[in-house]
This record gives sequence, structure tokens and C-alpha cells, in this order.
Amino acid sequence: MKNIVLFGPPGAGKGTQAEVLKEKYQLVHISTGDVFRYNIKNETELGTLAKSYMDKGHLVPDEVTINMLNAEVEKNADANGFIFDGFPRTEAQAVALAELMEEKESQINAMVALEVDDEVLVGRLLERGKSSGRADDANEEVIRERIAEYYRKTDILKNYYQKQDKYYGVDGVGSIKEITERLSTVIDRL
Ligand code: AMP
Repeated sequence: MKNIVLFGPPGAGKGTQAEVLKEKYQLVHISTGDVFRYNIKNETELGTLAKSYMDKGHLVPDEVTINMLNAEVEKNADANGFIFDGFPRTEAQAVALAELMEEKESQINAMVALEVDDEVLVGRLLERGKSSGRADDANEEVIRERIAEYYRKTDILKNYYQKQDKYYGVDGVGSIKEITERLSTVIDRL
């Protein structure tokens, strides 16, 4: 069982690569952002709560996010392994994920991070905003706040996984295919 955290700031290409890698390695892809957006679309209570944070570019509180993630993992009890995309984003989430994997007598094998310069991220997200329909991609101020939130709360997770010798950084600039190859080189060695 391979469990991979696909990491990087907003706009690094996690979602795009996760779609390719889940097929290639037969893993279940869980994107917490996608689950929140699904709930917003279906006007659930969770969706209303999440939207109030997402529209500002802020993180949804840990307790809510962790409970949701646990439920998503439980829905896929027979999975061959998982690609986590957009989770964990705080140390509390990383600790909760480690506990959840331990309950399953498994573990996170690697955090693979897509490295992209901030100004490239802003450009990519503004471009994506023209067609994604995502409110948080449509406004440069919100985009910059999401990147700031990443540096405030999420970037430190590199240290968390580095301490466990599980951190792998990959250049996130290039064609989709080139980046998939870089990620695959790491995953194949796990
Ligand atoms: P994403 O689709 O990963 O870019 O996430 C979009 C938004 O959903 C983020 O800006 C957060 O508001 C929220 N979100 C997604 N994943 C998490 C998470 N692990 N913890 C807290 N908030 C999250």
C-alpha cells in the first residue's frame, strides 16, 4: 500500500498530477478542496461553513477538515493506497493523518512537493480563474491570501516530513508529462 501526500502551494499543479497518478498507480485520490466544493454545490451545512473560509482564501478549521478526511478514507476501506491532495495543510492535520494511517496498520510513505515560484502561481491561478468557475481563483487579492496562508500554516509541513525522511521536492515547472515523469521517479523508488 502506497500512501502519498502530494504537496505544494495553490496553483502548483497538485490536482492535475493527482488525476494522472491515480490511474498510473491505482490509488484513490482525495482532494479536500474538491470535497468542500462538492458540499458547496449541494448546499450542505459543511459546504456553507467551508465557503465562508474559502471565499476569503483562509483555511477551513482543522476539526471540520480532519473529520471530513477521516470519513473520505473510511468510504474507501479497500483502497490500494491514497493520494492526498491539499491535505494535510497544518501540523494538526498531519498528526491526525499519521494516526489514521496507523489505525489502518499503514503509513504515509512520502510527501512529494511541487516547487513553483510565487509569481508563476499567481499567473497560473488567474489564468485558471477564467474557466474554473472557482470564486477563489477569480480575484487576485484572494489568490495572494491563499499563498500567504500557505506560508503561514502549511509550508512548515516540509520539516515535519523531512524529519521522518519522507520529503521529496520536485520542480513543478514544465509540461504535464515532464512533471509526471519527475513525480514517478520518486514514487517508483518508494
Ligand atoms: P484547494 O482546492 O486545495 O486549492 O483548496 C481550496 C480551499 O479549500 C482552500 O483555500 C481552503 O479554504 C479549503 N481547504 C482545502 N483543503 C483544506 C485543508 N486541508 N485544510 C483547510 N482548508 C482546506
